[in-house]
Amino acid sequence: MKINFEDILKQAKHYEEDITNFLRDMIRIPSESCDEEKVVLRIKEEMEKVGFDKITIDPMGNILGYIGHGKHLIAMDAHIDTVGIGEIKNWEFDPYIGKVVGDEIYGRGGSDQEGGMASMVYAGKIIKDLNLLDDYTLLITGTVQEEDCDGLCWQYIINELNIKPEFVVITEPTSLNIYRGHRGRMEIKVSTSGISCHGSAPERGDNAIYKMAPILLDLQELHPKLKNDPFLGKGSLTVSEIFYSSPSRCAVADGCSISIDRRLTDGETFESAIAEIENLDSVKKAGAIVEMYDYKRPSYTGLVYPTKSYFPTWVLDEKHDVCVSTVNAYEGLFNKKPLVDKWTFSTNAVSIMGRYNIPCIGFGPGHEEEAHAPNEKTFKSELVKACAMYATIPLTYLNQLNEEE
Ligand SMILES: [Zn+2]
Repeated sequence: MKINFEDILKQAKHYEEDITNFLRDMIRIPSESCDEEKVVLRIKEEMEKVGFDKITIDPMGNILGYIGHGKHLIAMDAHIDTVGIGEIKNWEFDPYIGKVVGDEIYGRGGSDQEGGMASMVYAGKIIKDLNLLDDYTLLITGTVQEEDCDGLCWQYIINELNIKPEFVVITEPTSLNIYRGHRGRMEIKVSTSGISCHGSAPERGDNAIYKMAPILLDLQELHPKLKNDPFLGKGSLTVSEIFYSSPSRCAVADGCSISIDRRLTDGETFESAIAEIENLDSVKKAGAIVEMYDYKRPSYTGLVYPTKSYFPTWVLDEKHDVCVSTVNAYEGLFNKKPLVDKWTFSTNAVSIMGRYNIPCIGFGPGHEEEAHAPNEKTFKSELVKACAMYATIPLTYLNQLNEEE
């Protein structure tokens, strides 16, 4: 199909006010992980208003809106939970009013990432207005619990709803660059155990905290030796928490455990990361147990969907149809070459592509450095451009497939 990029851009600009107002409404509804119901209902209202063909809320609480009835299923995803606001004194304004100053919209969730949701819904509207439908079905998802357990929502959508898109556009903030990967991560626990006794005669016991000491030093030394990847960067490791068990302050501790935040680069897996730690001399000598944390917090609907706290690395090849066609959409709309890069943080693609190998590509309004920070903001001009991209991507993808036939 021949694409009229000018018309799409004009139509996106036409909806600037609607996109802004919709986003401000979402910002006004606090929606921390596991408490997203109200914002989901607000999104449903907007999807109905702009004329989505089908809207469902699944048992986990994710909202799924469909445009079109074609053969190729293309999905675009925004998580619609946010983190908390942290220390309120660091905010210069109320994080939940959606203050607007010129091009800027302020508030929790602006960049991370209710802005992506606002742009996607109006992309659906533009597809209808300009009749950009073709042999595809566009699935727009507003997903829950990402800030708490990235990708869990999509484990549910893929495994339980049996929905397998050809690819997924992740609309987390990219400053309007195209991102094709990021490092993975895992949450690891290492525990030592001992035998308690009265603190006045420590030689009678076996101190679990002392056993942890050489492990901590070995972990510190392990970090600089981890694998490097020219695109994604280096794997990393840090000890983030330490716990103990002891019958009293006047006793030898009988338990000690630590949490490790491990970032995985290309080629590193949970097996390799666990084995590296298990093979440390100090870990072997202490007989320490190395394991992954589990996540099993109920969603706002009460659904519990347990998973390991493992969020695999993913990278999409630059020459993949999905990457090429997203670049084509960008060049068609904006008449310049995009920056094709990667995220520093983690997204729902850890499960979609990391676990299930469904191609993912990132393009979103807002800036990564605004995420989780006080005075979070996003930009109307970026919301409009992202909206135009989302309306265009399905067509450039189909054109790319047709070219190859
Ligand atoms: Zn996010």
